[in-house]
Amino acid sequence: MLSGIGPKEHLNKMKIDVAKDLPGVGSNLQDHFMISLGFRLSNVDIQEFVSSKVVTLSNFASYLFHGSGPLTTTLDAVGYVKVMHDEKYDWPDIHFYLRSSPVKPDSKDVMKKLFNYKEEVGDDLHEAASLFNSDHVSDFSILIGLAHPHSSGSIKLRSSNYLDHPIIDPSYLSDTRDVTTLVEGIHFAKKFEGAEISKKFGIRMVLFMKHCSSQHGNATDAFYECLVRSLALTEYHPCCTANMGKDPMAVTDARLRVHGISGLRVADASIMPHLTTANTQAPCYTIGEKAAHMIKQHWGLI
Ligand SMILES: Cc1cc2nc3c(=O)[nH]c(=O)nc-3n(C[C@H](O)[C@H](O)[C@H](O)COP(=O)(O)OP(=O)(O)OC[C@H]3O[C@@H](n4cnc5c(N)ncnc54)[C@H](O)[C@@H]3O)c2cc1C
Repeated sequence: MLSGIGPKEHLNKMKIDVAKDLPGVGSNLQDHFMISLGFRLSNVDIQEFVSSKVVTLSNFASYLFHGSGPLTTTLDAVGYVKVMHDEKYDWPDIHFYLRSSPVKPDSKDVMKKLFNYKEEVGDDLHEAASLFNSDHVSDFSILIGLAHPHSSGSIKLRSSNYLDHPIIDPSYLSDTRDVTTLVEGIHFAKKFEGAEISKKFGIRMVLFMKHCSSQHGNATDAFYECLVRSLALTEYHPCCTANMGKDPMAVTDARLRVHGISGLRVADASIMPHLTTANTQAPCYTIGEKAAHMIKQHWGLI
């Protein structure tokens, strides 16, 4: 936008000469958005269990010599599921991760700073840990994320000075379908309590958030919605603000050339018309590789 490519009205307002009026630049901002759900084990001490089963000499050796084994990751499982009964699409609407590290209220303090959590959220988490007479709130977590959020936001210039941070409005949960999907995702995660392995280890979901339960009771959809609105956070996958396509809001064509400007392509996460179901890093590699291939084709090199 600083170069004059973007929505004409906005560029005029920023006193930037318009090189090409492309209304889609900066719109359609999408991001995966997730909530972390805590679980506790009552029949086993998680720290002891992890020390004896995971932090072992053979696992260290696997990691050091082969780059494999449980020490290669903090996310132990990833899965995809469709929780909404939406006839239009048959792809998953929730992706979930299993994270084996315990969540401590202190780590929530860090998250409060990072994610701008409200004061009451941090207080409630501290209270949860003291309720369990423990230094941690949960032994492990299941992270439930929106694979295809309906909400979308925007990015705009604050001024024509490139040193000024842009105005980023992700508009998370502005479409209530996203709230409903995450609430259904919580119901899905709760089913894990009924699994054989959960019975063996006495696993139960612990969703303690006093300011939510005092208003909405426990285990109601209103309570879960309050949890979502209090705790959900970005997965750091922003994309789609210069999406390719043919419609009036499209910014590039299918060969990633910016509409109406010769010799300029975009090759990053912004060209995606929609978020991918899974994480965005690998698709970005693909976009980069494909762009390089098309540029070589253009110059007759392949
Ligand atoms: C904390 C975090 C964790 C993540 N974890 C994962 C994960 O586990 N798995 C996954 O798949 N994805 C993950 N992602 C998302 C993934 O990293 C991004 O989707 C991906 O890197 C986006 O690629 P990109 O090319 O669009 O942009 P970027 O990777 O951001 O690349 C933009 C590049 O442009 C450069 N640049 C910016 N301004 C200028 C300028 N004016 N002039 C020249 N260069 C400039 C930047 O330095 C940067 O190198 C994570 C992202 C973050 C932030």
